[in-house]
Amino acid sequence: MELNMNNKTIAAISTAQGEGGIGVIRISGENAIQIADKVFKSVNNKKLCDLKGYSAAFGHIVKDEETIDECVATVFRAPRSYTGEDVAELSCHGGLFVTREVLRAVLDSGAVSAQAGEFTKRAFLNGKIDLTEAEAVIDIISAKSKTAARAALSAKKGALWNRIEKIKNKLVTTAAHLSAWVDYPEEDIEDVTEVELSAIFCEVSEEINSLLKTYDKGQTIKEGIDTVIAGKPNAGKSTLMNLLSGHNRSIVTEIPGTTRDIVEETVLVGDVVLRLSDTAGLRNTEDTVEKIGVDLAKNRLKNCGLVLAVFDSSKELDENDRQLIEDIKDVQTIAIINKDDLDSNIDEQYITDRIKRVIKLSAKTGEGFEQLEKMIVEIAGTDSFNPSEGILANERQRQAALNAKNSIDEAREALNMGMTFDAVEVALEDAIAYILELTGERVSEVVVDNVFHNFCVGK
Ligand code: GDP
Repeated sequence: MELNMNNKTIAAISTAQGEGGIGVIRISGENAIQIADKVFKSVNNKKLCDLKGYSAAFGHIVKDEETIDECVATVFRAPRSYTGEDVAELSCHGGLFVTREVLRAVLDSGAVSAQAGEFTKRAFLNGKIDLTEAEAVIDIISAKSKTAARAALSAKKGALWNRIEKIKNKLVTTAAHLSAWVDYPEEDIEDVTEVELSAIFCEVSEEINSLLKTYDKGQTIKEGIDTVIAGKPNAGKSTLMNLLSGHNRSIVTEIPGTTRDIVEETVLVGDVVLRLSDTAGLRNTEDTVEKIGVDLAKNRLKNCGLVLAVFDSSKELDENDRQLIEDIKDVQTIAIINKDDLDSNIDEQYITDRIKRVIKLSAKTGEGFEQLEKMIVEIAGTDSFNPSEGILANERQRQAALNAKNSIDEAREALNMGMTFDAVEVALEDAIAYILELTGERVSEVVVDNVFHNFCVGK
């Protein structure tokens, strides 16, 4: 890997900044253990430099003969550490002041402050992990649901990498055979036939295609579903929002038209992340301010991933309800016939004839919530999702996979059009380059910096 890495010893607070049981200051690099020895005094006077990897000592952090805190110091020896370098971790009491004071002592002893994601970046540059595994680290940290956390952990363990490796090996073997056959005609190399090449390209293209298909589900699991709660004023949108989020967030009132602004909230329903927005009531209005809200809401409706369309079962269907049904006909929708605890006056048939998924609910009492949860899980596909299958987790990965697929399709086309094998070889090399970009084996510094830019300091 020709990418640059500074060889300074780095340090940072690796635990969350705030009060906690333990705070860890991580030091990594050539002098990590010597630097730790300058600030750490073990109770039995042992030096960390004399410890083997994976061992720990209890003692104190001391600066200018003053004891800052008690500490357990753990030593990791290269290459068996997170970064692949010598690492010392100082576990102190987790307070903002104490951890910062310990970090200051470490920096004064010769370490430099780590950049965001620099520990993981070093793990990547030292060949401990590939780029997809590094990206999985940030996904584990930011996971909002169990499924998202499991998917990220699988990626960290190499689920995606394994899938890409198989594709890469096929392409590299084919490219090597093709170029040997083209470049050394006098050698006794097995013939390359068009039929054979075409079959391999077809197979690889399909494999990448099925990988590309994992992206949308991956995004749903990771980022959640952009969900709009829609319905006429007083249908019970705010009450539903509060039921989903488990606390009073939107303003619930008896006066129609009170929820004017779009209120957003991220909630977890049956392990599905929903990015909810409760919108202004969708009724035809002359009020200018309310009209802006209504227009905004209609726009969001068209572009969201899921609509929870709320109907008031105690009232007859009116023009606003019928307009809503018309507005959402092309969007994935769950129709919620709300206020099921009251006497029904609504024409349910009209709704079930037009919307595939319909449930009855009382947002007020919570009756019917389980069925709503089941439907949401079904839509998200989290129940049938296998986290270890390896999925494309971000736009960078998707773009590289898509470029690789396009290059393979170009190679196929060159073959079908009867072009020379040279032209096929060029497209094939392009495909390999994109696959190497995906794993990070051949990637520009800008891309790598971009990946680690999103990390927190200390990771
Ligand atoms: P929004 O304008 O669509 O946001 O409607 P709100 O959530 O503000 O609800 C309007 C009124 O209907 C409030 O008085 C709620 O308490 C009431 N409401 C909402 N859901 C239910 C329900 O399931 N049953 C009953 N009985 N009342 C409800």
